[in-house]
Amino acid sequence: MKNSDLIKRWSKSIQDNYGIPTIALVRGKGSEVYDVEGKKYLDLLGGIATNVLGHAHPAVVKAVSQQVATMGHVSNFYAHPNVIELAEKLVAMTGEKSGRVFFAQSGAEANEAALKLSRRTGRTRIVATQSSFHGRTMGALSLTGQPSKREPFLPLIKGISHVPYGDIKAMRRAITKKTAMVILEPIMGEAGVIVPPLDYLEQVRELCTANGALLVIDAVQTGMGRTGDWFGYEYSGITPDVITLAKGLGGGLPLGAMIALGNAAKLFAPGDHGSTFGGNPVTTAAALAVIKVIEKEKLMAKVRKDQELIMQTVALIPGVKEVRGAGLLLGIELESPQAVTIARELQTLGVLVNAANASTIRIAPALNISTMQIKKFCSLFEKVMSNER
Ligand SMILES: *Cc1c(COP(=O)(O)O)cnc(C)c1O
Repeated sequence: MKNSDLIKRWSKSIQDNYGIPTIALVRGKGSEVYDVEGKKYLDLLGGIATNVLGHAHPAVVKAVSQQVATMGHVSNFYAHPNVIELAEKLVAMTGEKSGRVFFAQSGAEANEAALKLSRRTGRTRIVATQSSFHGRTMGALSLTGQPSKREPFLPLIKGISHVPYGDIKAMRRAITKKTAMVILEPIMGEAGVIVPPLDYLEQVRELCTANGALLVIDAVQTGMGRTGDWFGYEYSGITPDVITLAKGLGGGLPLGAMIALGNAAKLFAPGDHGSTFGGNPVTTAAALAVIKVIEKEKLMAKVRKDQELIMQTVALIPGVKEVRGAGLLLGIELESPQAVTIARELQTLGVLVNAANASTIRIAPALNISTMQIKKFCSLFEKVMSNER
């Protein structure tokens, strides 16, 4: 089979909502993947921040295989030990005993759950941020602050205002006693890895508390150890009311979660929300395996060291303006809008990255990527940057 044959079939059978890919990936091990023609790539994107332990990690393979061979699904008419254990674990990771978890399959669904939860405060107004990404379903899209993604699908949910990210004055003007919730990414991932001012989250927390609004932290991309913390907001010292997770949670399997803390944990009543697959035994088995490995191998400490290495090396490469982000969620800002070209040339050289926008290369590799692989990426990146074009 050839890449080109599969791509031809893709374009005839898959909806035209994505860009058309150029290669088909068929297997992987750690941070290396292979396309259908056998060409090897170094994977710096990790399934868009999902494959936190890389591809085919033995602990995930074992947990998933054993579970699917025992019981694949039960529905929420019945309990399952994995679901309970994972919920307990996630709550423990927040450090707040009061937490309660709702499981879904994706980031959009986790944010939908938060949106519905916020309606149970009796308020309906919501504050989100410009350029944010919270998902593509109608509720999540209503939260998303990107006009190009929203406008074809208007009208969306009413009562949501979008303020400039990182601007505490704008936030102060927007939050009132009628605000049900404020939703924020600790670092904006899709927007191009945008880091807010250091005290931003703390100040938004204060505003939410003063006005009785829920603070929802969308940790879908920043979560699961990616930034060197479990959820990406911990550096700020705040406690949110709600945390949403997905991407990395299932280590490559589709799993999302909404963790509500304190009084927010008591807002849903029986019948308020649900999901057939929510808390599936197989995906939760994967998540439990992922968390165990992150803890056992102290990957969050490793990720912080990797950040230093990449930042220091890549920042010196001619044509690089800055390197932003935390842990292994990094945005490489180029001096000129050539991110798409650079990403394409890297792919030809056997390196997978993503152009988050015209001038930003985003990397979100597996948390257990090796130092050798990181160095290889840095040198191939430097090579591509030095190409004449
Ligand atoms: C990817 C992402 C989502 C949406 O997740 P899906 O699983 O694609 O629905 C929501 N919020 C953030 C911050 C994301 O990065």
